[in-house]
Amino acid sequence: MMNAVKSEERAKLKGGPEAVAWVKEELCIGCDQCTIVCDDDAIEIYHTPIKSPIMIVDNNKKAKVLRDPCTGCKLCVLACPTDAILMIDR
Ligand code: SF4
Ligand code: SF4
Repeated sequence: MMNAVKSEERAKLKGGPEAVAWVKEELCIGCDQCTIVCDDDAIEIYHTPIKSPIMIVDNNKKAKVLRDPCTGCKLCVLACPTDAILMIDR
């Protein structure tokens, strides 16, 4: 059932030249899946300290979409295990 709901949501995602991917930083776990599927080199991984008062981790990774090379293909949205990527109007 959850899969059916998810498929329906994904089918409604906007895409194409009028759309661009955008990463919700707080949901990104830096897993690199989006950079692997992006054929257009439109995603960069950057390093940032973790924002938690109970954990000290120097090298926390996050993804960032580069607007210009992004073609709006949505592959990264489908690949992201934490649903951290949205498609927004360009
Ligand atoms: S929508 Fe496509 S081109 Fe844009 S960042 Fe995601 S995978 Fe790359
Ligand atoms: S696939 Fe999702 S969680 Fe993994 S690095 Fe990309 S945006 Fe972050």
